[in-house]
Amino acid sequence: MSTHYDVIVIGGGPAGYPAAIRAAQNKLSVACIDEWQNFDGSYAFGGTCLNAGCIPSKALLESSELFQRAQHEFATHGIQVGEVKLDLAAMQRRRAAIVKTMTGGILAVFKSNGVVGIQGHGRLLAGNQVEVTAPDGTKTLISAKDVVLASGSTPIRLKTVPHDGKFIVDSWNALEFDAVPKRLGVIGAGVIGLELGSVWRRLGSEVTVLEAMDQFLAVADQTIAKEAQRHFKKQGLDIKLGAKVSSAAVAGDLVNVVYVDKQGEHTLQVDKLIVAVGRRPFTEGLLAADSGVELDARGFIQVDEHCRTSVPHVWAVGDVVRGPMLAHKGKEEGVMVADLIAGLFAEVNYKVVPSVIYTAPEIAWVGQTEEQVKAGGRAYKVGSFPFAASGRARAMEAGQGMAKIISASDDDEILGIHVIGPMAGELIAEAVLAMEYSASTEDLQRTIHAHPTLSEALHEAALAVDKRAIDAINR
Ligand SMILES: Cc1cc2nc3c(=O)[nH]c(=O)nc-3n(C[C@H](O)[C@H](O)[C@H](O)COP(=O)(O)OP(=O)(O)OC[C@H]3O[C@@H](n4cnc5c(N)ncnc54)[C@H](O)[C@@H]3O)c2cc1C
Repeated sequence: MSTHYDVIVIGGGPAGYPAAIRAAQNKLSVACIDEWQNFDGSYAFGGTCLNAGCIPSKALLESSELFQRAQHEFATHGIQVGEVKLDLAAMQRRRAAIVKTMTGGILAVFKSNGVVGIQGHGRLLAGNQVEVTAPDGTKTLISAKDVVLASGSTPIRLKTVPHDGKFIVDSWNALEFDAVPKRLGVIGAGVIGLELGSVWRRLGSEVTVLEAMDQFLAVADQTIAKEAQRHFKKQGLDIKLGAKVSSAAVAGDLVNVVYVDKQGEHTLQVDKLIVAVGRRPFTEGLLAADSGVELDARGFIQVDEHCRTSVPHVWAVGDVVRGPMLAHKGKEEGVMVADLIAGLFAEVNYKVVPSVIYTAPEIAWVGQTEEQVKAGGRAYKVGSFPFAASGRARAMEAGQGMAKIISASDDDEILGIHVIGPMAGELIAEAVLAMEYSASTEDLQRTIHAHPTLSEALHEAALAVDKRAIDAINR
């Protein structure tokens, strides 16, 4: 291992590893240090996203949806399959294999780009020196002209709900259950709580989601949130709003959860309890006292819009800095920083970061919600199109939900696009591209969309903004 590099990246998650690869593509010498260790003791690059987040959750969402569809939907298509049985061990082996392939892929890409991957803990010292502690405890000092901090985030734990990793668990544990809990409690009806609740509900758990806020999915456009709530209720997710958990305790093989709502205090008994109340920036052991890097009041590393920290030539990207905790946001920041280090132009357009919730139906959006536009005081128009009127959605037995477009009354600028329905997470890419290029709804109206495709819903929603939808009644 060399002792000096152009760039050292601490953290090999979806923010750190793209920074390392892009820096190497920019002909800089790069080392990327990561300490992630799986439950089986193996080390892996890829961070939360590949090992314990985006990828394993989507693997289980896909498998559990197929299980659900085989049981309840195949007959509608005229397919008789007999008794559908769950082999959870096989489902979990598939999840683990996908994770292993994806994390192994990072090492291959590192190798082809000449990035030195170092397994161990990195600590930033003064003067852009980094102390690396290898898994066997050996310490080495390396240095770089530029250091990128990408140490990510970790689940928030509640003091009154003591985590034991067996009965009271976090999202990572909940992805690796080896049996379907009969009764599952989830604290938090955010993205992670809803996705994990959906997986285990589809596989047979009775799921109760306890959400402290009175409003469901407050971050989303409320037309979409209301539609989502209706579908989740129909699927059997018991979502209790305004339910504040005051304590939880393991008793034998059960968890007693005490929560308070408008009616008073209640006790819920479950077999497993997932705490999914959000994540916090992770900086433990990352910064020596004299590194000079400043944190904000909430523990995030303080950065400007180009991810520069308070110390020259030290940058920070991903979940450990402000902004939405999303893999793609971190990736763009990592790539931006690597280009800036190489003296190239780069920036991230934070106005068009898409959000996706991979439930069924999927939910995805970009830009402002109708509530935000209203609060901003700008006059606006809305167009929406139901998937019930989409031939492709009907053919897929997925005619639920809608696409909704909000645009400015004065210049027709697209302000926000919101989709709940089949493949919403894929459809939103068109919306992101349109907004990235400052498209108007007229631009979308004049763009040919193949028939029959789900993307026609966006086309028709754009037409509906001016009450010119062809395949639905204009209101
Ligand atoms: C269940 C779940 C599902 C999710 N699904 C999605 C999704 O579908 N889409 C999406 O966009 N986002 C999703 N997320 C969020 C996504 O995982 C994060 O936004 C993303 O992983 C953040 O990337 P990061 O590189 O900033 O941090 P991380 O992925 O957390 O990676 C940080 C890495 O740095 C390492 N590290 C930390 N400190 C040190 C140190 N001092 N020395 C060496 N290594 C260190 C860590 O071990 C880790 O490997 C999900 C999260 C969870 C928990």
